[in-house]
Amino acid sequence: MSEWNQLAAGQTYPPGTLYVVATPIGNVADLSLRALHVLGLADAIACEDTRNTGQLLTRVGLQRPLVAVHEHNEREAAVKIVDRLAEGERVAYVSDAGTPGISDPGARLVEAVRAAGLRVVPLPGPSAAVTALSVAGDMLEAGEGRFTFVGFLPGKPKARGDAIAGLAALDHAWVLYEAPHRIADTLAALAEGLPATRRLLIGRELTKLFEETPVLTVADAPAWLAAEATRGKGEFVLVVEGAGRAELAGDGAPDAEAQRVLRLLLAELPAKRAAKLAASITGARTDALYQLALAQRADGDGSGED
Ligand code: SAM
Repeated sequence: MSEWNQLAAGQTYPPGTLYVVATPIGNVADLSLRALHVLGLADAIACEDTRNTGQLLTRVGLQRPLVAVHEHNEREAAVKIVDRLAEGERVAYVSDAGTPGISDPGARLVEAVRAAGLRVVPLPGPSAAVTALSVAGDMLEAGEGRFTFVGFLPGKPKARGDAIAGLAALDHAWVLYEAPHRIADTLAALAEGLPATRRLLIGRELTKLFEETPVLTVADAPAWLAAEATRGKGEFVLVVEGAGRAELAGDGAPDAEAQRVLRLLLAELPAKRAAKLAASITGARTDALYQLALAQRADGDGSGED
């Protein structure tokens, strides 16, 4: 037995147990040594997609019987898995990528196994949210380490805008997942619904060849995405900075409405006049609006001359 194998085996893995195992979100080498050990011990591996998990097992040199458990059959499949566990088998459960149950199926299976009085053991590992948060730096610190995990925003524009409006006042960072076909719309909605200076970390293709983790303002994020045609094709997790003290105190930082008014005025007026007028209409600070106006001009927004 190799040294790592002994380390992983230095704990008991009782039969009649469901092992909920996190798997890589990109780089296969992120599969933990314990995960490898337990997958090898399992009498069966329950998974979201047998093809996907079959490929993972082939890459790490394992062959185990696979059982499909996805969101459409989770209840019925759970009954069969409970029967197998009751007969003393060890069953591992993996989702397609990352930690099961985190924006992934798994919760119903875990509930069914617990309800049957059987044991559930978690094996920790990669999760896109925690991976992105680990490099969020002062965005996390500002909220004293707290964060809100949101997962996927609603797909419909109105519901998505409402969700962002509801999250905008959180004083700590929040984490979003997004699919490649919706990332452009989501970045546009964040730019529309949040103060332009609010920052976000974009975790793109984490642990993969073209991994990127830029920190940008929400105003700059849509242009970043559009700057390279291939960018929209990756997988994305977003960490959005919480509202700072000044924003929450409402001490004149331009909110979404002030920015909308400024954009309209900028189309017709020089930056200084637009900022002054927007300030008297909305109550936001003139200097903050003027800075925003200059930034928008630099980005080619608005057409009025200074
Ligand atoms: N259970 C997974 C976890 O623990 O992270 C999440 C599953 S959820 C169905 C899939 C979403 O996670 C993707 O749409 C994307 O938002 C995010 N994600 C997964 N892998 C990623 C990666 N390598 N880089 C960035 N985001 C990723």
